[in-house]
Parts: sequence; structure tokens; C-alpha cells
Amino acid sequence: MNTPIHALPPSAQQPPHVPKYVYRFGAQGTEGGAGMKDVLGGKGANLAEMCRLGLPVPAGFTISTEACALSTRDGAGVLLAAIEAEVRAGLAHIEAEMGKRFGDANDPLLLSVRSGARASMPGMMDTILNLGLNDAAVIGLGRKAGNERFAWDAYRRFIQMYGDVVMGLKPTSKEDSDPFEVVIDRVKAHKGVKLDTDLDTTDLQELVQGFKALIRARIGRDFPTDPWEQLRGAVLAVFESWHNERAVVYRQLNDIPESWGTAVNVQAMVFGNRGEHSATGVAFSRDAGTGEDLFNGEFLVNAQGEDVVAGIRTPQQITLIGSRRWAELAQVDEVERQARYPSLEELMPTIFQALLQAETLLENHFKDMQDMEFTIQEGKLWMLQTRNGKRTGAAMVRIAMEMLAQGLIDEPTALLRVTPDRLNDLLHPVFEPAALQAARPIARGLPASPGAATGQVVFFADEAEAWAKGERGDGRADGRAVILVRQETSPEDLRGMSVAQGILTARGGMTSHAAVVARGMGKCCISGAGAVQVDLKARTMRIGALTWHEGDWISLNGSTGEVFDGRIPTRAVFESDLSGDLAALMALADRHRRLAVRANADTPQDALVARRLGATGIGLCRTEHMFFQGDRIRAVREMILADDEAGRRKALAQLLPMQRSDFDGLFRAMAGLPVTIRLLDPPLHEFLPHDEAGQQAMARQMRLPIAQIRQRVEALHEFNPMLGHRGCRLGISFPEITEMQARAVFEAALNVQAEGLAVEPEVMIPLVGTLREFSLQADLVHRVAAQVFAEQGAKVAYRVGSMIETPRAALVADRIAQGAEFFSFGTNDLTQMTLGFSRDDAGSFLPAYLHHGIYEHDPFRSIDQEGVGQLVALAARQGRATRPDLSLGVCGEHGGDPASITFFHRAGLDYVSCSPFRVPIARLAAAQAAVIEASSE
Ligand code: ADP
Ligand code: MG
Ligand code: MG
Repeated sequence: MNTPIHALPPSAQQPPHVPKYVYRFGAQGTEGGAGMKDVLGGKGANLAEMCRLGLPVPAGFTISTEACALSTRDGAGVLLAAIEAEVRAGLAHIEAEMGKRFGDANDPLLLSVRSGARASMPGMMDTILNLGLNDAAVIGLGRKAGNERFAWDAYRRFIQMYGDVVMGLKPTSKEDSDPFEVVIDRVKAHKGVKLDTDLDTTDLQELVQGFKALIRARIGRDFPTDPWEQLRGAVLAVFESWHNERAVVYRQLNDIPESWGTAVNVQAMVFGNRGEHSATGVAFSRDAGTGEDLFNGEFLVNAQGEDVVAGIRTPQQITLIGSRRWAELAQVDEVERQARYPSLEELMPTIFQALLQAETLLENHFKDMQDMEFTIQEGKLWMLQTRNGKRTGAAMVRIAMEMLAQGLIDEPTALLRVTPDRLNDLLHPVFEPAALQAARPIARGLPASPGAATGQVVFFADEAEAWAKGERGDGRADGRAVILVRQETSPEDLRGMSVAQGILTARGGMTSHAAVVARGMGKCCISGAGAVQVDLKARTMRIGALTWHEGDWISLNGSTGEVFDGRIPTRAVFESDLSGDLAALMALADRHRRLAVRANADTPQDALVARRLGATGIGLCRTEHMFFQGDRIRAVREMILADDEAGRRKALAQLLPMQRSDFDGLFRAMAGLPVTIRLLDPPLHEFLPHDEAGQQAMARQMRLPIAQIRQRVEALHEFNPMLGHRGCRLGISFPEITEMQARAVFEAALNVQAEGLAVEPEVMIPLVGTLREFSLQADLVHRVAAQVFAEQGAKVAYRVGSMIETPRAALVADRIAQGAEFFSFGTNDLTQMTLGFSRDDAGSFLPAYLHHGIYEHDPFRSIDQEGVGQLVALAARQGRATRPDLSLGVCGEHGGDPASITFFHRAGLDYVSCSPFRVPIARLAAAQAAVIEASSE
């Protein structure tokens, strides 16, 4: 192994049958390029591409991902034997180009050994810098550079990184500090200084001795002095880092296959820490936050590696304009800015120009926003990395639309550049960034519904309402911002939820009641924050040892699930119509998509929001939500308590005008568009209070003995309400309920039509399993329609259709289609019943199921294509076989999930229906599905 490197044969002499593991890059000959990410990894592929474009990149070579797979399969020994000759040849290539030799003590070639998988996994794997140093080479490096301190600083950094990554010297527990930092702190304390930069050459030499002693003591081996041995160790360790825990978890979260492996990039070091004419930095071709087409970035003079991102020193801005903007935010005056924080543009104008050219070249070449790393060594610019930059939702939209306008990309590409879910970022209030930085997170739950909310804690829905309206018990009228904190929510909390800024629940998953309702309202919600302990008696919320009382301020970030103490001001990013780039993106999406997008909306306000966001109809109006508004609940309860049909009809007669006015509002709001109204669905006990206090209040209000109420609640009790007396089973038992609802629909439709507005009512029968079940209800609806039309001497076109939400309905869809004019897939119930998972209880085992890969995604969030999807496809096919013009839609939560939308597109459905605030997401997802399909044809 100690053969001098320069004496080794070049790779050209290898026999041709040997597989190729090493690909060179540099000014003098590059193998591979951007198209080879699967072999070279993203970093290696783009380093090669930059060389091809003639940009200054320190010479190097990439060991392919296939070598990683080889070492995983056959072990380190086999790997090293397989690649040794190629690696030595690669080193010779670097030596030739850089004019230095690896292991030369007088003027050593130093290397960086970097990791880079096919997909970028920022910070998940390891990098080692300054490799090749030892006690002799450090002297040569210092002498050659004319800078001893630089050489010793490089050496101590190298030992630190190598000791950690290769030799495995890590903190023993997560409470421990980094053992190397302990040594640094000791030396600093001894010297009486605070900053790393205050350490002189002698101190750094002391650090090197201290580090080596530490390694010997803790690892039981000496730090390797032989550069070749160092290189072998580093290459193996970087391959190994593919399997470290961080990387494994990141892959799981991002659906990156285990089998890909990482590549290893071995590259000549260039030094940003060679003095005042050296620097290191990162740059973006556009603003990753706003998407503005403005070159920007940060750098540090006389620094190395990750110093910029590590936040040890305040970095400087690359452009003058960026520097001025920064100074304004940081409240640094112009004199101080110029003296202490000049931009690269001012400080090194020639280098700045070169960087600007590189940036333009790279963006035009890759046709996407670039995130670049560079180093300046003694007045010369070196490019170290470029990749497509990560960005906010707002930036995604703006960059896509501007690049389309600039002719850099075509329409399908622009559509695919925006991750649909990230449109959420644009549609909800956000925290003021500065205030957020100072805020203290206190707990974390599920990011159930995005947005930012700040308000005073209340524990009861009715109090939330009172506080929000400004009617407190103490007579103060000062409408307050409230956060409703609950163990979990129930439909009774609806009004309290609707007036709250945000909702926090201790229990419940992403499809819990609170979550579904909050998303429907576009209201910030965090669910399942397990650490939150609600004490309703004491009116407190405890998290660990801390307690918050009613009226205390907290803030929620519904996009991340973080709960903060105190009040964080918010800013509405989106309030009314879609505008600007987002509107343009939506128009583009509409031109490409085939699926229509409707909204699930129960009120005219929701319907108007949905319409503004581009919904072309209501796919689901849940009539029961209307039953909770105002005094209606009283009439509903009267109906439930009635002993006979006559009693029920009396109560229903009170409800009729209210339902009629609800539908009136909806039809008006959606004039010219279809409105699908679902008949009453939930079990009746949901409308009765279950607690003693509630029952007492109800007894008082209705002037009934409490025993009677208790009795009815008990009579309605079900062991499994999800599979109980609900859906069309209600209408079959109590046809008068269906009659009232149908009457309300048709009377409202005629009213609105009489004003000259077009109405398209669609009546939907829930939870159907057989044709007969459907027909009993449908016939009733038709009969009521005929009656109303006869009474009023006017008609309106309408349709009656069936939900497909029991597996049986899907299986006999051909028969149900004999009666139903449309199908709407209720994928929430269909999922529950097909999987046999109660969605209100799945939270207890679903995490384990996801962990074991039994299901890839939460089946309530993204449709189980393999199972539930088959039922959808089958029902669609069978239904259309019976009735070719059968209209097919989806009204479950899945209607707003991009992956599910892709599936529904392929299954040939006509529309999806989702929460109003997800309408833009669905429009984009539907366009992406169409664009992808078109490109694969
Ligand atoms: P990551 O994938 O985590 O970004 P990198 O491999 O890009 O890790 O390395 C981290 C940093 O190390 C780079 O940003 C760069 O500053 C520094 N670095 C890497 N290679 C070199 C090199 N050849 N010369 C100088 N600095 C380098
Ligand atoms: Mg990097
Ligand atoms: Mg249902």
C-alpha cells in the first residue's frame, strides 16, 4: 500500500472487461456529466457538468454509486481491491492537473472526500476536508503558503473531521458536548480567549496534540499518518455513511430507495482560509424565499467549509443590493456596513463578475434556480457545487412562471416545477419572520391544517364564541383572538372552531374531526399534540412542568405542528382572489387538466371562497353541519325526542325553512354550477349532549325531565356507530327526514331559479350498499320533486346519485347505476370499511404500520391505490358499463391529495371535490397528472 502514487499505471492500461468505478473531472478531461446522476450522484454529476461548461472546478474523481452497492454486498475488502487501481489512476489525474503530489511533505496535495447520492440529502452524510496532512506535511504546507497558522488550522480541522467521521469519536450521549470542542474550550480557557480566530499557531499546535491524545485514549489507535491510509479510511467511511441513522430516516421520509447508494467525490482542496484575499460562500441564482429573480448569497473572508452555514461569524452579502437590504434589516448603518460587512461586489469586484457569469451560465444551462457553493483562494474563484435549489411554495410559483415567461422552460415543465401541497404556503397567514425567530416552541403535534395563528387559550367552544364576539362574563366587549384548546373536538364544537384563530387538540390524527373541519375552514389546526394535558376543571393546559391558564397567549404553526408560547404577530399572505403568478399558474393548470375540481362546502361563505379559488361546483354539502347552527339544534333535538312520526314531522317543519334558506344561499353562491347535497348522514346520537351538564341544560331549555333525555341517549347508544344507524339507513327508518331535506332542496332551487340564476341541484344518498336501498330513497326524492314542481308550477333539472362508500356498493356498482345518475366516491368511509380501520381509532396503531411498511402512506391521507383504488376503478368501470354518461367524482379527503388525484385522473373520473382551500392544489395536481400522462404517451 505504500507504493509511491506517481509510479502507478494509468487507468488506460486496465483490461477492458474490468467494470468502471471511477470517473474523472477537471479542466483536462472529464468523464460523465449531469445526465449520470444515478452513477455519479447529484454532486458528482454536476461537478462533471460544470467542468464541461468550462467553469473552474478543482480536479477530482467520483467513485460511483455502484461501488457503494458493491461494498454493501461484498464488504470493504472486496471494494478496495476492486477500485484500487482506478483510484490511484484518478489521483494521478488530480496530481497532474494541480501540479502537486499526494503525500509530498514539501508541497502536499490535499483532498476533500465528499458524499453525494442521486437525490440530494443535505447534511445527511459526511465530508472530510484537508485530507493528506500529517506532522511533516503540515510544515511543508505552511512554508509553501507562507502562512503557518493556516496550515495548523487546516490540520486541526482535518483531525477533528476524520476523528469524528472515520474513527468514530463522537459524544457518548446526546447530552454530552463534542469531545473535540471540549479540548478547544480547554485551550481557549487556558489562553483566556473566546473565539477560534483568537487562537495562534502555537495554540493550534497544542490543539493538534490534544486531539491526537484524545483519539489515542478513546479509540485505542493512533491517528493515521499515511495519506493513502487516510484516503482509504475516508472513502470507506463516506460509503458507510449511506447507512447511518440520519440518512436512513431521511430516505424513509423522502421515499429514496435503499439500493441507490451514495457516490464518493475525491477532489483537490482549495482554500478559502488562506488570508484576506480568500473566502468561501454559497450563492443562489434567484431568491429561494420569494422567488425574485435576483442573484444573492453569503460569504466569509478567510474561512473554510461550512463556516458560513455554521453561523459562527456574521456572513457578508454577495451583491451590493443584498448587502444594503441586509443592513437595513440588521440595523447596520451604511458607514459600518462598508467598513465591516462590504459585499463581494464591492470587496472583490473582479471575482464577483466571474461568479455572476458562472451563476448565469449555470441557471441557463440547468434551466432552474441554482444553489451553488464556491471558494476563493488568493483571488481565484473555484466552483465547488451546484444543484437545483430548495425553495418556498411562493418561490416555486414565481420562479416557474417567470422562467416560463423568460422562455427557459415550457408549460408542462412549469407546471411540474411546483409541488402542489406547497401552494398551502401561499394561501394562509404566516408569522412575521423576525418575531418567529424569537419565539419559544413548547410542544409539537400533527400539522393538521396549515397556517399561523395566535390567540388566547380557551377550553370550551361556547366560550370561544363568547370571547371572540366580545361578550365575556365580565361584560367586556372586546372581540378577542382565541385558540381553542381541546382534548379532541366533536361536531358540537363547530361554532367555537369557526370563530377561533386556531385549534389545538391533544388527541386525534390528521383526519380527526378537528383536522378535517379545520382544513375545510382553511383554519390553522394542530392535532394530536400528546404532550398537552388539558384540565378542563382547572381551565389549564399543562406541558411538562409548565402551565398555561385560560386567557394566556399561545401561537400555532399549522404547517409544521409547532406550538409556541406567547403572541407572535401574523401576516395574511393571501386574502381574496388569486392574483399574480399564482393566478397565472392556475390558468395554465386549467388549460392542461382534464379532471374538474369542486369543493366540499356547507355554507355560502365557504362556497364563495371555493369559487374564488376556482372550484366549478360543490361536490359535497354536508347537511348535518347546518343542524348545529343557531337554534336549529333545538328543533333537531325535538325531532329526535319525538315519540312518533307526527311528532317528528312537527319538528321537521321547523327545520324546513332553515334548510331551505341554507340551500338558497348555496345555490346563489354557486349559480351556474352543480351543487351536490348529501342527505343526513351521522347517527342521531351525535346531536344529543352526552355529559350531565349538557343534558341538564337541554332538559331546562326543552322543559323536559332529564330522565327522558338520558333514556333517549341510552336508547341511541351504539357499540359501533361507524357501522350503525346512519347514512341512508336513517332515511329508510325515518323517510320524513329525507322528505323534508328534498323539499328544502327543490323549493330553494326554484326560488333561486326564479331570480334568473341557473341552478344545478344534485341530491346524494349516503352509505348505499344495494340498488334497492338506493331506490327507496331516490324514489322518495323524485316524488317530493314532482310534488314541489306541481305546487309551484315550475321545474328545475336535477339529478339523484349515490355515494360509493361501502365495498358492497363498489362491487355492485353496475346495478346501482341503473338508478343512480352519478357516483361520488366517499373514500373516507370506503377506506375505513375496506381496510377495516376505524379512522378515529387508527392513530393507535397506524404509526407502527407505517414504520413496518405495511402501508406506505397514511391510507386516510393518500388513497390506498392497491386496495381501495381497485374498488374505485371497478365501480367506475361497471357504473359506466350500465350508464355511459354516469358522472363520477370523489368527495372524500383524498380529493385534495395530489397523489390520490393522479390516481383518480388515471381511473377516468370526472372530478374531485376537496376543501375550498385545497382547490388550487387540486387544480395543479390534476394538471400535473395530465401532463405526465401526455408525456408518457
Ligand atoms: P454537503 O453535501 O453536506 O453540502 P459538501 O461535500 O458540499 O457537503 O462539503 C461541505 C463543504 O466543504 C462545502 O460547502 C465546501 O465549502 C467544503 N468543500 C468541499 N470540497 C471542497 C474542496 N475541494 N475545497 C474546498 N472546500 C471544499
Ligand atoms: Mg455542499
Ligand atoms: Mg361517509
